[in-house]
Amino acid sequence: MFIETRGNDNLKPKEVEFSYAILNPSASFGGLYAPKTLPKLQSDFFQKAVKSNYKEVAKEILLKFKIDIDEKIIDKALSLYDNFDDKSNPTAVVKIEEDLYINELYHGPTRAFKDMALQPFGYILSNLAKKKKQNYLILAATSGDTGPATLDTFANKPNIKVVCMYPDGGTSDVQRLQMVTQEGKNLKVLGIVGNFDDAQNSLKSLLASPSFIEALKSKNIKLSAANSVNFGRIIFQIIYHIYGYISLLKTSDIQGGGSFYAIVPSGNFGNALGAYYAKKIGLPIKKILIASNINNILSALINTGVYDIRDRKLLKTTSPAMDILISSNVERVLFDKFGASRCKELMNDLKTKRCYKLTAEELKSLREDFDAVYSDDDFAKKKIKEYTLKGYVMDPHTATTLKAYEELKNDDLPAIACSTAEWTKFATTMASAVEDKEVKDDKEALKSFSKSLHVEVPKSISALFDKEIIHKKVLQKEDIQEEILKFLSEEI
Ligand SMILES: *Cc1c(COP(=O)(O)O)cnc(C)c1O
Repeated sequence: MFIETRGNDNLKPKEVEFSYAILNPSASFGGLYAPKTLPKLQSDFFQKAVKSNYKEVAKEILLKFKIDIDEKIIDKALSLYDNFDDKSNPTAVVKIEEDLYINELYHGPTRAFKDMALQPFGYILSNLAKKKKQNYLILAATSGDTGPATLDTFANKPNIKVVCMYPDGGTSDVQRLQMVTQEGKNLKVLGIVGNFDDAQNSLKSLLASPSFIEALKSKNIKLSAANSVNFGRIIFQIIYHIYGYISLLKTSDIQGGGSFYAIVPSGNFGNALGAYYAKKIGLPIKKILIASNINNILSALINTGVYDIRDRKLLKTTSPAMDILISSNVERVLFDKFGASRCKELMNDLKTKRCYKLTAEELKSLREDFDAVYSDDDFAKKKIKEYTLKGYVMDPHTATTLKAYEELKNDDLPAIACSTAEWTKFATTMASAVEDKEVKDDKEALKSFSKSLHVEVPKSISALFDKEIIHKKVLQKEDIQEEILKFLSEEI
């Protein structure tokens, strides 16, 4: 069962099943749903798991959560991993140092780790909506990776419409093309004049607009969400941390029972939360090392116990998916550690004072599981170049994990760092890091980088440049609501 991170308002149910939590992800007082209890991996789990493939491990973990989803639907959802690069394993673990392994989570259709959760989640959500004969709208504001992955998973799925807003000029060419060329009559992609904050604020003002909410009601359309506030995404993000470890057991790089560091490049903290739950379930993680960029709100919290955004402005970096100041999933950790009433208090402080402060005791508890550090763009570029020359190509988000590896890992235990995107989504940064060349557009950068370094660009990326642009609209904030309502009236 799932309960609410800020307690119950006596209007919503006090405990809900998984299906309810993912169809209706907003809980009382603006909180989130979190599991009431977590399952435990039995002592023989890993012994058995070394003989299992990804899907088998995933299914076993999902069944341990006793989610109210038919086993057949779970199987079908997991079978979507068959479309990833390696049919037998959606992820790949690569050793790049004696004690450092990269867990590549980007081998899905949109080349970012968002696919790991959104592919199966999209199938399950649409299936539930269909079974309930209810239509749902998913509104997404994206800085670049959530958009393509959300559109891909819901394209032509029944009972779901998706509206995705991106900041025009604020994403890479590849990310924009992934969205604006995406087919599917149930999808609407809108460029917004402004930056990511403007796109996100447009979404928020829609949700607060009485006329918009009224219009949804009259059309009998409900709202859900596909970002990581939805636990339906988090549950799939627990699994790959566990499977990364199993991969090293399989190759005997880790001996049974041995613990390790999990390094996570973080923004909205969904990936890190997955690691936290995995640890609580029984994965022997010594510590979760959080890597941030110069929007270092997470590393400040974990190092000082203070979350303070009073004088903060969002800074643009070469790791845009981590450019975030309000990191939603920290809330689930606070709830898990300190309970609903304290969590509500802290979240209220954040809302009203734009700042909250943990007690020394609370900070100590947080630091038992987490450590954190941030790096700037120059560091990331330096690491991209260094490793590319050594033969391993990593994207700018993944490069931030090297800072955590170098500064926070102070013993011989191995570390597994999550690689969250393929370099092909950030080709201009790659070219500038490795070839000291400022290339303006992705097409040229992809060509030059792949040619000089003999690395392949997957067809799904190179084909984007020849595809028809389907979604051409770039709108001012004021015009969004009307455009969306028009789209919702269309029959599909
Ligand atoms: C979304 C994303 C992140 C941040 O992940 P969170 O779960 O939001 O912390 C990091 N890197 C890339 C490439 C992403 O797309």
